[in-house]
Amino acid sequence: MTSTSTESKLSKNHYVITQGEPHIRLNAGHPDHERLLALVGACPAGLYRLDEDGSLHAEFHGCLECGACRLLGEGTVIASWRYPEAGCGVEFRFG
Ligand code: SF4
Repeated sequence: MTSTSTESKLSKNHYVITQGEPHIRLNAGHPDHERLLALVGACPAGLYRLDEDGSLHAEFHGCLECGACRLLGEGTVIASWRYPEAGCGVEFRFG
């Protein structure tokens, strides 16, 4: 039987990690807790996490480049957002 879970589908993708600056930079200490929670809930790859002390952490290896976090947080929680440099980032595999 073939697994159709989200994790299973995402695991088929290939990622090339950007060297140097990450393509998304955070204002991790931003005080708007609701907006931080929105990022955690909106990221389809589950890359945002809140620690018990309320601080935001993210690991962008696995970013799907969907832009949801940019729409929700650019200018507040998201300090900057850009696509990864050419040849880096996600390569979708639907097989
Ligand atoms: S661009 Fe999409 S997949 Fe990437 S970190 Fe933001 S919400 Fe998650």
